[in-house]
Amino acid sequence: MAYKIIVDAGHGGYDGGASYNGRLEKDDTLRLALAVGNILSDMGYDVEYTRTSDVYDSPVQKARIGNESGADLFVSIHRNSSPTPNTYKGVQTLVYEDVGLKANLARSVNNELEKVGYRNINVVERPNLAVLRRTKMPAILVETGFINNDEDNALFDNSFDETARAIATGIDDTIRAAGLKAVTQDETAEAISRIDDDSINNLPEEEDNSIEITDEEESGVDSGAADGEINEPGIENVGEIPDDNSNYEGYIKDVPTGENDNNDIYQLLVGIYRTAGSANYQMNNLINTGYPAIIFEDEGLFQVRVGTYDNIEEALIAARELRDRGYDTLIVLGNN
Ligand SMILES: [Zn+2]
Repeated sequence: MAYKIIVDAGHGGYDGGASYNGRLEKDDTLRLALAVGNILSDMGYDVEYTRTSDVYDSPVQKARIGNESGADLFVSIHRNSSPTPNTYKGVQTLVYEDVGLKANLARSVNNELEKVGYRNINVVERPNLAVLRRTKMPAILVETGFINNDEDNALFDNSFDETARAIATGIDDTIRAAGLKAVTQDETAEAISRIDDDSINNLPEEEDNSIEITDEEESGVDSGAADGEINEPGIENVGEIPDDNSNYEGYIKDVPTGENDNNDIYQLLVGIYRTAGSANYQMNNLINTGYPAIIFEDEGLFQVRVGTYDNIEEALIAARELRDRGYDTLIVLGNN
């Protein structure tokens, strides 16, 4: 049986993902996902997609589609974005945890994309992303350059085929190196005709075993996380941002600030911590990624908040960006 890969085009339908000058992430991801899938298919893989048209499924549904497909590998295609255009560039591949096959896949894909001309901004652990957390097979999420960086867009458009080929090659090299790439049926028949009966009986079993070890390792990590809790100790799950603008009211939480100014602003609550050290760590992560994060102390807990937005639309855009980067985010009311 051929090694099966499910390719996930990020976002879709009314979830456009990040946008820049009318360019929508969901369109770039679909085009690239289909191109990557075609190449993988030519390479002999069994390829499926979470979507092949402009439709919406939540990340949780996408993970479910992946699990139900019985794929051996889940590859999610996205484009990155930063709060200010043209401040960041490069490729970044996200994994649930930076270990095992997925870590090798992520590095290999980044390295191949670097050869195309993208800056390699490394592999990042994102334990909160549904497509990485809830998938039972190894999963990677490729942030194929920043959609709000003109250089990255020029590479994406002018070297589109090379970009798709780089991702497929990065995957293929790693799967081959791990001994997981199943041979085609013709090759199998040819190989079987050359070996004796005992070896024939042993061959499939050995192949299955090597795949199972990987699966066990993955599901051991992922099943612990599939209960919806954030895995880092000391963080409370602050819920997910709705995908539909019309629902946002339910996600706004009035947080008392102890001030009497009526000038409401919105902030993004990204985590609540029991220790200042954990809060500091998260705050610095966010600041290093380009987000204006602060610590807000309330009832003995340390909240990490991002930004001050004076309208809900801006807050939602920023919340989506953060969610895309793997942060569970809650919009809260602050006072100016
Ligand atoms: Zn995205």
